[in-house]
Amino acid sequence: MTVRTRADLAQLPGYVPGRTIPGAIKLASNEVSAGPLPSVVAAIATAATNVNRYPDSAATDLVSRLAAKLGVEPAQLAVGCGSVTLCQQLVQATCGEADEVLFPWRSFEAYPLIVQVVGAGQVRVPLTESHALDLDAMAAAITPATRLVFVCTPNNPTGTALRREEIERFIDAVPEHVLVVLDEAYREFVDDPEVPDGVEVAKAQWAKGRDNVAVLRTFSKAYGLAGLRVGYCVAPDAVAEVLRKVYVPFSVNAVAQAAAIASLEAEDELMARCAEIVAERARVRGELLAAGYEIPETQGNFVWLPLGERTAEFNEHCLSHKVVVRAFVGDGARVTIGEPAENDAFLAAARSFQH
Ligand code: PMP
Repeated sequence: MTVRTRADLAQLPGYVPGRTIPGAIKLASNEVSAGPLPSVVAAIATAATNVNRYPDSAATDLVSRLAAKLGVEPAQLAVGCGSVTLCQQLVQATCGEADEVLFPWRSFEAYPLIVQVVGAGQVRVPLTESHALDLDAMAAAITPATRLVFVCTPNNPTGTALRREEIERFIDAVPEHVLVVLDEAYREFVDDPEVPDGVEVAKAQWAKGRDNVAVLRTFSKAYGLAGLRVGYCVAPDAVAEVLRKVYVPFSVNAVAQAAAIASLEAEDELMARCAEIVAERARVRGELLAAGYEIPETQGNFVWLPLGERTAEFNEHCLSHKVVVRAFVGDGARVTIGEPAENDAFLAAARSFQH
């Protein structure tokens, strides 16, 4: 007898993470190339001496610091084991089998997997020709079964970000019982003043009595803690409360909590590091444009090369130059902005590719 697992999961592809190849430069996972700050390493070491104890499951200290920083109540926050886990908690909190989740496509690879694992239906709305979210088409694709919409801004992997009036018009078009989740994993890399802070957008909606907007953020990208897995969701009280209920107890561990708190304390230094990445992003994009590539304007810590059928070949070419990029075969390649020397190695590879 074999164990009966769910038949609908047999075809689930599973998440394929960016590859780490010894000796090669990894620009495949939108990580920050610089290692953790000494103050963060010290906080990790201190927390490590107490790991015989369970962590504070409610992450009380971290939550109260985030609440103060963002100008919300602690009750309007939920932490998670990376924001990807919060994506799953959000779908679990809103959807049963008969319900649907809507999201742009191409976007964050985990959305379709999570929706399938939870057992809800999914509606993918293609991006525009300029690789941006098609909010009009997304609004038109909402059905009576829709419970949640992921709005990824800046969008992974294309980097495009939504302007304030676009987001507000979209929220106005969404029925109030449908949760709009602004996935802002890359918020700290935004330098376009027309791209609003999603938490401010959400708070303005709540003030108008629209309690259907939530925001996802992470410590994995700008804060450089990808290996520790901490994310958070800013949501109306009722949504945040359900998120905390579907939270797997203790899933944000004590070391991760301590590192996140130390990172908030070192925020100025970390944001200065982000500014360097943003400057490198402009340089890399400019050089790629000069080399004849089409590169959408990007607000993330990565660039998107819409190479279509040549993506696999480009990927191989970069690998032969010892640079690991993230290839979405048949569609395009996403390349993380690294340290200047890493970016130079990638640019040399890109320039020598016959495109
Ligand atoms: N949202 C988006 C748009 C992402 O790109 C990622 C990471 N690739 C996540 C969420 C999840 O990040 P984490 O789980 O590391 O917080």
